[in-house]
Amino acid sequence: MNIILFGPPGAGKGTQADKIVNEFDFHKVSTGDLLREQISNNTEIGIKIKEIIDKGQFVSDEIIDNLIKKILSNKKYFNRLVFDGYPRNLNQAKTLEYLVKKNNQKITCVLSLNVERDLIVKRVLGRQSCNKCGQIFNEYFRPSSKENHQCGDSFLVKRPDDNEETILKRFETYQDKTLPILNFYKNLNLLHEVNGKVEIDQIFKEIREIIASLET
Ligand SMILES: [Zn+2]
Repeated sequence: MNIILFGPPGAGKGTQADKIVNEFDFHKVSTGDLLREQISNNTEIGIKIKEIIDKGQFVSDEIIDNLIKKILSNKKYFNRLVFDGYPRNLNQAKTLEYLVKKNNQKITCVLSLNVERDLIVKRVLGRQSCNKCGQIFNEYFRPSSKENHQCGDSFLVKRPDDNEETILKRFETYQDKTLPILNFYKNLNLLHEVNGKVEIDQIFKEIREIIASLET
């Protein structure tokens, strides 16, 4: 089985992908990682990718498709992939379907983490990390207190680039771009909506049940 994971930025998609990898012995495919790997290995394609990124341009579907093609033809990962942050558009989704079939594999399920806008904003805006001990808190959901944190509040910092406007923009971009892809998988009867509003472990519980019910 191969899995695709969708979720808006701030929904904790990466965390869930890592959990799937650890518990079910999958290999995670993130196009960001694939691109970085090519760049750091200084491959022919990596040099091209670096030029494109340095110019501030987007890496073409063609380049991405080629990297995905390589992964899918690797016997080591046969039917053991979890895609994180890919496909990003309908063309990539269609190419993926084609490549998967060509390699005698299949996409078994597509998981979509559902989280509302307001919750994402609070999760991202409320996030605080402690400069002293490295613990992560959230001023709305899990505030630092005398009981759970000895350092006190003075070491807590927020990420400077997170403001409400950027978060909302990222969220809307995600929705616009992802809805057609989700519909594509819905028509293939592969889409499973997952409640992303609950705690990390509870989200994973639901994901685990879906995967277990599909594993044969
Ligand atoms: Zn601390």
